[in-house]
Amino acid sequence: MSEQRSPQPTGAERSRPARRGLRGCPASEARDRLVSAGLRPTAQRCAIAWLLNGPKHRHVTPEGLYQEASKARVSVSQSSIYNILRQFTEAGLLRQRTFRGLVIYDTDVSDHQHFLVEETQEVINMPGTPMRVGGLPSAPEGYEIVGVELIARVRSKR
Ligand SMILES: [Zn+2]
Repeated sequence: MSEQRSPQPTGAERSRPARRGLRGCPASEARDRLVSAGLRPTAQRCAIAWLLNGPKHRHVTPEGLYQEASKARVSVSQSSIYNILRQFTEAGLLRQRTFRGLVIYDTDVSDHQHFLVEETQEVINMPGTPMRVGGLPSAPEGYEIVGVELIARVRSKR
């Protein structure tokens, strides 16, 4: 199995969608990622990991991923989608983010900020982040600030 393993894609490789599917076996890469994260590579987990492994980082909702899985003829229930997303998040493969009540699973687990498109609820990574935020008040007594999430709401220019 190790000789079939592809190297982790670099950022440059991830931005070339057309070539991604032509190299190696995406399902094999998905399985390897699960094993590396300490997850048993069940058929459903492999299929969902394969769906999430697009050419660039993605922000998915459980409902959207369920629809995508159905279109791809992946046999998985909605509750299994929720469970798998939670397991992937706990294993560090995804990061759960909430934008104005909208729960999103981000395939980019690095610290970065987002734009939220008001009309479509689309979430877009902010370039050039992480960024510095000044003027924060002190944390409440007995607490320390561990992170700040910045969301810039955007809309189409009228
Ligand atoms: Zn993101």
